[in-house]
Amino acid sequence: MKRIDIRDVDHLPGRRIRPSDRFRFRCHPGVKCFNRCCRNLNLFLYPYDVVRLKNRLGLSSDAFLDRHVDVVLREGAHFPEVLLRMADNRERTCPFLTDEGCSVYPDRPDTCRGFPVERGLAYDAAQRRNRLVYFFRPPDFCLGQHEDTEWDLAGWEKDQEAGDYHRMTVRWAEIRQLLEENPWGAEGPEGRRAKMTFMAAYNVDRFRQFVFESSFLKRYAVKKKIRQQIRRSDTELLKFGFEWIRLFLWGLPASCIRPR
Ligand code: SF4
Ligand code: SF4
Repeated sequence: MKRIDIRDVDHLPGRRIRPSDRFRFRCHPGVKCFNRCCRNLNLFLYPYDVVRLKNRLGLSSDAFLDRHVDVVLREGAHFPEVLLRMADNRERTCPFLTDEGCSVYPDRPDTCRGFPVERGLAYDAAQRRNRLVYFFRPPDFCLGQHEDTEWDLAGWEKDQEAGDYHRMTVRWAEIRQLLEENPWGAEGPEGRRAKMTFMAAYNVDRFRQFVFESSFLKRYAVKKKIRQQIRRSDTELLKFGFEWIRLFLWGLPASCIRPR
């Protein structure tokens, strides 16, 4: 999810959509462009995408990250981006694409779910708060935009079962905004705290080991009910990890964890 300055919103490409607006779109196996959008992509994966995909594929977080992602730290950035690694073929197809369509469809990433609607988190300095902004941005080759089915944003999110994804991605986007202020100091984005932050966000299996098999629970008080939830649920562990990152890096108070 892109970070945007609210003053730039009206100058960005694509048609801005507000909650009361409607757009036309329908994708189905009968369109001539079927599957064309699942190739040659820079497909960013957010932490909840990784949880859903690694569980879908029956892989540990380590194995998923090894096999399926490229972790890219761009020059001047303070935290890496995680991209799905495309297949090593001429068309750079998505590794989950088959002739019948997406083989991980119920657990496809947030970006695929929203497509062709893109979201951004726009910071409104005057009001000191973030606002979600939406754009309708189908590429020219996408014929779904010429179909007749009409949607509003709420209906589209429901149809794509994107609510959980969107909520988790917004939580993460807020942390990413804070990370852009460079919390690492001299240690830099390859230091120990950055690695631990990456683990909590993208490698939940290792983070669980860290919570339960290190001195973590001696250093932080975590209620028994929360401990039980994060032991069995990757999603709860990820939410807990987000809260821990905020506490660990910026001392922000969290309801589920406090320093002892
Ligand atoms: S390009 Fe558009 S219409 Fe074609 S398969 Fe992709 S989303 Fe569907
Ligand atoms: S995950 Fe599925 S929907 Fe997304 S690009 Fe790959 S094949 Fe297409």
